[in-house]
Amino acid sequence: MKRLVLLGASGSIGVQTIDIVQQHPDLFEIVSFGVGRNIAKAKEYLELFPDIQTFSVQYQEDAELLQKQYPDKKVLSGEEGMEEIVSQDNYDVLVNALVGFAGFLPTLKAIETHHDVALANKETLVCGGELINRACKEYDCQLYPIDSEHSAIWQSLRGNKKEQVKRLLITCSGGSFRNKTRDELKDVTVEEALAHPNWSMGAKITIDSATLMNKGFEVIEAHWLFDIPYDEISVLMHPESVVHSAVEYVDHSVIAQLGAPDMRLPIQYALTYPDRYSYDLDTPLDLTKLSTLHFGAPDTERFPLLALAFEAGKKGGNLNAVMNAANEVANAAFRNHEIPFLKIEEIVIGAVHHAPFKELTCVQDVIDADTWGREYALNVIKGANQ
Ligand code: MG
Repeated sequence: MKRLVLLGASGSIGVQTIDIVQQHPDLFEIVSFGVGRNIAKAKEYLELFPDIQTFSVQYQEDAELLQKQYPDKKVLSGEEGMEEIVSQDNYDVLVNALVGFAGFLPTLKAIETHHDVALANKETLVCGGELINRACKEYDCQLYPIDSEHSAIWQSLRGNKKEQVKRLLITCSGGSFRNKTRDELKDVTVEEALAHPNWSMGAKITIDSATLMNKGFEVIEAHWLFDIPYDEISVLMHPESVVHSAVEYVDHSVIAQLGAPDMRLPIQYALTYPDRYSYDLDTPLDLTKLSTLHFGAPDTERFPLLALAFEAGKKGGNLNAVMNAANEVANAAFRNHEIPFLKIEEIVIGAVHHAPFKELTCVQDVIDADTWGREYALNVIKGANQ
């Protein structure tokens, strides 16, 4: 029985994690969870898992209200609440399904209190990959990737030697605007951006998929997870999202992992590794029904944030946290109809190119870089809307 703490429990990955837990009550137990503002979901989980003693919500006023309704439970709130539940010694694995930089400190805290982390929050590694890897070594903890591409690479690496890897091939569906020209991208709407052709995901990551920022983050994530240099990581356009990623070896053999585009597969594998278990899937991959799969090179002129991520990744230091922070602010501003789609890339590129470079030596450096990126982006948005 694996005991889990689940952060971001009401989001897309969180809900699918609960589904996996419910399908395998003999394998998993949720001991604590954290949600944002979705109080209805919190109540639903307390019904489903009555043994949960402690949980956390984003806002103190929600926590106070819930505390009155659940006097036998401990209701926490805010960053401190998340920190407290990930620091408990009553669980085995943190499932971090938070969105954005908010996921960084809980990941680090869980590792520092000797817990393995199943990581859906890629921003953790984008912003502070070197600090996270250092902590994993120091506290002897493991990261288990939940991102579908990284799960595919992880599976394709099994049984082989890392020294014999030639390159990682991260596949990319291309997002909602994969067929649009630069000119057409000028006028795209939020609604169009949110209509991802293959994957059902949260709003923030769906926009990041449309700008290819998400793929750029995944390159950085792969670099830290698998300790592979950036020059040995390639992005491969693959609109069908059937090949979830692949590894090419020195003998030119390519090993890939294929499956239906369903996040529950990588979630479950991260939690059952190295074992595999069945789970209910309405439409498993049926290769006889696929007549054609397409592959191609990415177009970084149409989608410059992918090239920017390689650049920031190679330069390292604070630039990745700056890039992430500027992107979080710009992504949200686009979703709030404050800026047009192409303004996102302008803001993120501007932030990375204007930020004074600094090595990351401690957690505060990451937080400072995040603050700098946010302020830069907010200033540009304010200026644009004046
Ligand atoms: Mg992914």
